[in-house]
Amino acid sequence: MNIIADTHTHTIASTHAYSTLQEMVHAAAMKKLYAIAITDHGIAMPGAPGKWYFHNMRILPHRLEGVLLLRGVETNLIDYEGTIDLEPDCVNDIDWVIASIHGVCMPEQKPTVELVTNAWLNVAKNRYVRVIGHCGMADYPFDYERVIPEFGRNGKLVEMNEGTFVSRSTSVPNCKKIMELCKKHGVPIIVNSDAHFSTRVGCFKNSLKLLQEIDFPEELVVNSSVARFQQYVKQYTGVFDTLTSL
Ligand SMILES: [Zn+2]
Ligand SMILES: [Zn+2]
Repeated sequence: MNIIADTHTHTIASTHAYSTLQEMVHAAAMKKLYAIAITDHGIAMPGAPGKWYFHNMRILPHRLEGVLLLRGVETNLIDYEGTIDLEPDCVNDIDWVIASIHGVCMPEQKPTVELVTNAWLNVAKNRYVRVIGHCGMADYPFDYERVIPEFGRNGKLVEMNEGTFVSRSTSVPNCKKIMELCKKHGVPIIVNSDAHFSTRVGCFKNSLKLLQEIDFPEELVVNSSVARFQQYVKQYTGVFDTLTSL
């Protein structure tokens, strides 16, 4: 399987990542990716950029070094109602919204399966969210059987996140379970690097191995073909309206 777009990456704007936006796009061009999304952390994360960073992303070209550039954000869930830290002022300036749980942005209340299930069911209904980020986190299990089909019904892509193998390795068994359920229910997924440095752009080795192990169908991986990815972007974003050609 060949992955043609990396739609979860961070720049120095996140302040715990180490390359500029231009360096990340350049890395994508060198790896011959069709597209990259720059998705710095939403404003609730300590050290994250403020809302003006996201608001002003509208000045970025959608094509840079021959790569389709999506203006994105990795929003944080900030409670168990599924509220995200996406500023209403910014929704029209951003093409690609990933919603993720990061413990540091969540209330101190201990997560229970019921609470986390409720949070994700509400995120599934959020019209701005495109990708469900690294949801296999060991500390935040939820009722996968119940929620995964809801992601699919609402046009969300469940993420297979390469960074998980490095920074959240205890989550891998859950990720496998989630991918098996996506396969069972025909829910589309997306494979992303979550690169915090340019050399990690387009690196998906462990994710692809896991998918291979469970014989995951390629046609459910939205970024495994340019045509499939374009179709999704066309259906759910206005990106191509501003480009003269695909
Ligand atoms: Zn994250
Ligand atoms: Zn991330």
